[in-house]
Amino acid sequence: MSTAEQIKSRLDITDVVQSYIKLQKAGANFKANCPFHNEKTPSFFVSPARQSWHCFGCSRGGDMFSFVMEIEGVDFLESLKILADRAGVEVEKIDKNRQNERLRLLQLMDEAVKFYETELRKNADVVAYLKKRGMKGETAKAFNIGFAPAGWNNLRDYLKDKGYSESEMEKAGMIVKSAKAQAGYYDRFRSRIMFPISSASGQTVGFSGRIFGEEGTDSGGKYINSPQTVLYDKSGILYGFDKAKNEIRKKDACVIVEGQMDAVMSYQAGIVNAVAVSGTALTVEHLKLIKRLTEKIIMAFDKDEAGARASSKGIDMALAEGFEVKIAVSPSGKDPADAVLDSPESWVKAVSEAKNVIEFYLELFDERKDIERKILPYIAVLQSEMEKAGWVKKISEKLKIKEDAVWDELKKVKLAPKPLGSLASKSNLEAKLPSENSKQTRLEFMRNKLLGIALWQNDTKDQGLKPIIDEFIAFKKDEIDGCPPEKKNRLILEAELFFSEEASLANEFLKIKKEIEKEEIKAELESMTEKIKELEMANESEESGELKLKQYLDDFHKLTKKLNDIVFL
Ligand SMILES: [Zn+2]
Repeated sequence: MSTAEQIKSRLDITDVVQSYIKLQKAGANFKANCPFHNEKTPSFFVSPARQSWHCFGCSRGGDMFSFVMEIEGVDFLESLKILADRAGVEVEKIDKNRQNERLRLLQLMDEAVKFYETELRKNADVVAYLKKRGMKGETAKAFNIGFAPAGWNNLRDYLKDKGYSESEMEKAGMIVKSAKAQAGYYDRFRSRIMFPISSASGQTVGFSGRIFGEEGTDSGGKYINSPQTVLYDKSGILYGFDKAKNEIRKKDACVIVEGQMDAVMSYQAGIVNAVAVSGTALTVEHLKLIKRLTEKIIMAFDKDEAGARASSKGIDMALAEGFEVKIAVSPSGKDPADAVLDSPESWVKAVSEAKNVIEFYLELFDERKDIERKILPYIAVLQSEMEKAGWVKKISEKLKIKEDAVWDELKKVKLAPKPLGSLASKSNLEAKLPSENSKQTRLEFMRNKLLGIALWQNDTKDQGLKPIIDEFIAFKKDEIDGCPPEKKNRLILEAELFFSEEASLANEFLKIKKEIEKEEIKAELESMTEKIKELEMANESEESGELKLKQYLDDFHKLTKKLNDIVFL
């Protein structure tokens, strides 16, 4: 059995997909809003029976590997590794045979994590500092927190011993080439507490290092992060997402905090659905990642931030993308990490009592100009007119002015153009791509439908259906043999979804077959009409032209009769 087959025999596609997106039961199958294109009604289906998935909106589909490839944005080998880890299947063999660069670099990062974790245990003062901040040993372990010791070549030498080249270390962002000639490379992270940054599937792709001690001060600020590398795409990674994702789906909400410590300490306090943007602003990519699991976000601010962050781009964007946005501020006004240090319960309470962002700012501001400048932009981007009206009413009540006056102000709010690559504009792009569905003519559509039923009912025991299917399959043998497996899978799933409730599939099958014949004749008639027109236009007086025309007209009448026969059959 191949590694891929072993993995498939141990894992269920429903579980794999479910770990990324919320699925609803739909008969024998499961459905969801497609994670790969923007939609409001689910056209993404998973079939446990066939261990396959398909989206009727964007025509993507396949098996569990292709799903992981799509959703993680990785190649096949890496999807194999991700699922092998899950299934507990050894991939050592593949690694030896086809060690592609990405896999080598991921292993290098794992080694770096090990090195930093060992160093942390050796440095009692760092452990003492983390304890002082309230972090428990088990929490540090869960997040693989480590320590990069002072000195220029500690990691480089360690990784060299493990068989990695300097060029690989540089590609992974772990060492830096010295500006001085002949000085060679040095460790990027020195004298820093190390937070590994993981991809959605939990593979370490980068680090964030928090300053500790003297030596770190010579370069960079309080935090430095890995640079953009082949592994680490800064805009698309949320710290802690790999650990939070299941809980985000279950709780149907994602808590967004500022720094790594905030995410780690929230986790320790029992708020497992927390992720950190770690220094950057919230991006469209972040929102995309979250939207697969929930459309509700809770932003955590400390007291100083809360006011300053009013009219933040991130909130704007989230609202415009249809997210429900809430704001959580701890009672002490401290950031989440410090709030948890004081009292974990207080932070849990703050999150559970988070307020809708507009309501939050309506309570915070009293001045008309603040309300108009800072709150109206949030209302302007809302997708629902009903919701808008609700807020306009509240504002008019609070400011004791007429609703019309608020509406007037609201109309003046200039909406920022949607950033390129926003969720909505991306789906517009996708819509322009020739998807299989849009290209399909009615005829192709029905032919595929028929083929789907035939493949689905290939070994049917139904006495009425069996001879019809057998005949069709024999007739279409070449076409069926040449049909790619993904297409077969899609057609079968489609047929099952359409016809599983059908009382007489045999009747339905014959009806579609008849429809197809009708369409085929219609197409032929159309092309013939064209030819007749051309001949008449050419006004050929010669005998050959007359004969041709007569022949065409004859054929035309025959076809028309055939069409009528079918219609009134
Ligand atoms: Zn789709």
